[in-house]
Amino acid sequence: MSTPEPAPSGGRPAELRHILRTPINHMIGYAELLLEDEQRPRQSEPYLATILACAQQILTLVQRHLQSSDPSSASSEVEILRAQSRGALREAVEATEALSRIETGQRLEDVERIRFAAEELLAFAVGSLPPNVQTPRRAVPVVPQSPAKIVARFLIVDDSELGREMLCRMLERQGHTCVAVESAAEAVACLRSERFDMVLLDFMMPGTTGMELLNQIKSEPGFQETAIVMLSAFDEVAEIGRCLELGAEDYLLKPFDRAVLTARLHAILERKRLQNLERKRTEQLEAAECDLRRSNEDLQRFASVVSHDLQEPLRMISNYVQLLQLSLGESASKEQRDYIHFAIDGAKRMTVLIQELLAYSNVTGRDHTLEAVDCNEVLDEIKLELGASIAETGAVIVHPPLPQVTANRPQMRQLFQNLISNAIKYRSQAPPVIRIAAQRVDRFWQFSVSDNGIGIEPEYQDTIFGMFVRLHSRSVGGAGIGLAICQRVIERLGGRIWLESAKGKGSTFFFTIPA
Ligand code: ADP
Repeated sequence: MSTPEPAPSGGRPAELRHILRTPINHMIGYAELLLEDEQRPRQSEPYLATILACAQQILTLVQRHLQSSDPSSASSEVEILRAQSRGALREAVEATEALSRIETGQRLEDVERIRFAAEELLAFAVGSLPPNVQTPRRAVPVVPQSPAKIVARFLIVDDSELGREMLCRMLERQGHTCVAVESAAEAVACLRSERFDMVLLDFMMPGTTGMELLNQIKSEPGFQETAIVMLSAFDEVAEIGRCLELGAEDYLLKPFDRAVLTARLHAILERKRLQNLERKRTEQLEAAECDLRRSNEDLQRFASVVSHDLQEPLRMISNYVQLLQLSLGESASKEQRDYIHFAIDGAKRMTVLIQELLAYSNVTGRDHTLEAVDCNEVLDEIKLELGASIAETGAVIVHPPLPQVTANRPQMRQLFQNLISNAIKYRSQAPPVIRIAAQRVDRFWQFSVSDNGIGIEPEYQDTIFGMFVRLHSRSVGGAGIGLAICQRVIERLGGRIWLESAKGKGSTFFFTIPA
């Protein structure tokens, strides 16, 4: 630090605050490092405590007297600051002298750094006479450093060598690893070649400032996820606000409060960890969705191949077996008639299976155009289509006027057709009576399709919506895909489908469609 002159009129208290805070930061930082050192001789503790208390006192004075942005009052405030800090600084310098008689090696070097910082501040403080106001001195608690819960790799960017070194040592003692550089260019080079969990970036640097570097890091696509925390002795709210707007995670004011620094870094690392986890999960989900889409497309392609290429030979088998049956006529033995029957029946079942698979793949396919669908019209079409089995079984279908819904028309037909034909297929002794109704429940239309058929036992009421699930004998035609299709149709519309039934008591299928 070159000793600043009293703030000239027009000088900015904020700048002076910054200049003074750097040596204060060094005093506090190195004194704390020494206090934490388990090898330290016991008798050095009171001197270190004095240094910490003095530095805190000077910090309080700096905050009190260098707040004003009014240059006309700045000069007199600086004078008061100088006068009031002198005593404490002399005491701090004396404490460092005592310490240098006790300490050796690396710790002695740290003591020298504290002395250097205290002397710089004292040189600034030696000025005109004080109005003798006492600043209360706060006792400084020494918080023992415990290992960090999340260990991380830090890049420290600070033009002050002591600042870098102090922070590195502090973080490394907590189990982190650090790389420290002094310029923006070195920082960018490091970031391009290595991975860091967090960058601690000094706000005030010569050349490219911390804010400019922050901007640069945040605009490089590869670095956008890097957490950046601004370190500053320059506590101007507007500047800090700007850094946060530019994407800094947080800021820390020098000199750091160890406990606050540790807690904030931990919070940021934890937040980043959760964000990364979330990003990974999203990527996994996207990959799974992509796989699913691909297998759906594969299924559709498969279904269309099956429908075109298999249906034709299947028809041929069935036709030729029927011709064989005709040509054998009455001469066919019982055995031969049985074989022919099995072949025709097998071909029929296979045709149903192929058609249902095709229908399922259609409802999972891409074409999902929504339109206004009048359910009354759909039911009229289905009654025509199922005319033969309705007539054969004496089925009755009753419903009041039903609403219009926004849905895919062919799929709505498929849905009603499956439910109604099941109600007919799984009928009891009595002719089927099928009642369809709809009512508004919150923001949904809730439909019900009930029958007086054989019913379904409670334990199967969830599983029957699965593919190929069948409860009843093969004598009733079907492939076990109809209800899976219904579920798919409804889920694609954002509704749900379920049923209420009891064996021998008929069944009611419910489904909802957003209104
Ligand atoms: P499929 O009718 O082709 O067998 P579905 O998926 O439509 O296949 O139905 C699955 C099973 O659920 C049926 O095999 C049948 O056992 C049972 N089921 C479906 N609808 C009814 C109903 N209305 N009454 C009784 N059982 C039913």
